[in-house]
Amino acid sequence: MLLTGTVVVDAETVVEDGGVVVEGERIAAVGERADLVETYPDHEHRAFGVVAPGLVGGHVHSVQSLGRGIADDTELLDWLFESVLPMEADLDADGMGVAARLGYLECLESGTTTVIDHLSVNHAGAAIAAAGETGIRARLGKVLMDQRSPEALEEETEAALAESERLIERYHGSYDDRIRYAVTPRFAVSCTEACLRGARDLADRHDGVRIHTHASENRGEIETVEEDTGMRNVHWLDEVGVTGEDVVLAHCVWTDESERELLAETGTHVTHCPSSNMKLASGVAPIRDYLNRGINVALGNDGPPCNNTLDAFTEMRQASLLGKVEDLDPTALPASAVFEMATRNGARAAGFERVGALREGWKADVVGIDTDLTRATPIHDVLSHLVYAAHGDDVAFTMVDGRVRYDDGEFPGVDADAVRERAREYAATLDGAPSRA
Ligand SMILES: [Zn+2]
Repeated sequence: MLLTGTVVVDAETVVEDGGVVVEGERIAAVGERADLVETYPDHEHRAFGVVAPGLVGGHVHSVQSLGRGIADDTELLDWLFESVLPMEADLDADGMGVAARLGYLECLESGTTTVIDHLSVNHAGAAIAAAGETGIRARLGKVLMDQRSPEALEEETEAALAESERLIERYHGSYDDRIRYAVTPRFAVSCTEACLRGARDLADRHDGVRIHTHASENRGEIETVEEDTGMRNVHWLDEVGVTGEDVVLAHCVWTDESERELLAETGTHVTHCPSSNMKLASGVAPIRDYLNRGINVALGNDGPPCNNTLDAFTEMRQASLLGKVEDLDPTALPASAVFEMATRNGARAAGFERVGALREGWKADVVGIDTDLTRATPIHDVLSHLVYAAHGDDVAFTMVDGRVRYDDGEFPGVDADAVRERAREYAATLDGAPSRA
């Protein structure tokens, strides 16, 4: 296939009248449109306003998709314990599969081709299978909770780790290696020391498995960890093995100087979730400081109950705006830095090689974006357009691993109407839902 338009190769390089040739799951060539049309005359040709790398959702909760709007404008702990966790506990395997599918379809239709996904304690296999079947690229895993958790979600440590290992053996590297596993403690508050050390042990024993958890999102959280351990949260995580180049920490809003040094020294990845941090009033993560220290920072939407959208374009805009307000400096987090976070940095955190830019030999994770729109007129700078003006619903076409997964309102091979219908049915019966009779 030959995809043409203004080609955004990466955050630095744009080909104004360009093209991308896809053969199999790889990009075979990137260059000037006229040259490619001549060289590849037999390839199916699709023209878009902009052709860009698929975006990477560096921290999402696909399985919370049924809870969009269930707990708006509430305190974090009420939000979590009274609405979100009861909802997760209420989902059976079928419901988990439907919820995850709904989340992945929302990602694909708005241009996200890779996610780092925090699933739930129960029935994670159903969600992993949904990722495989909808065609998204995903780093994901079952959530671990073995203390301070609702009864329906709290597990015995050994059983939780054993189930994680079973899922690693079954799914890690599955679906043409689009699906890779992350051992996923919820956060230090809900996990014992044995659980966190067990997560490190699993990642060490299985090649390419990573660890993904929440860290230092909220002041109450870090106070609880300090009471439990006598240590700052990131120091505690480091003590039990949950830092390093194979670790992704979502949020990191409340870190001190020594924790930031530790994140940089250990090569730990951070995912910034600006909309969630604003909506739950968690605070403002020091992203420019992290980037200046060389910490790899990805961008994530977090879950539909705390955002309420999985549109990565709005997240890019929020990241840049919030970074500027934080520093009272309009030069902070420019469009190119934010686009890099949402593409290459995300792929690096997710641990997928040759993903996050449009380069020859790289994975064909590509989006086609419509610019025949009032808000896309004019486009002086395409990166500015993508970060500050474009919306997820400008995405007309999404390809993952060389396969078309979304095309002008349709998801080839997936009955999206049926997924939405079943999602509505499940949502109406869930615990935690305010509309429930
Ligand atoms: Zn989260």
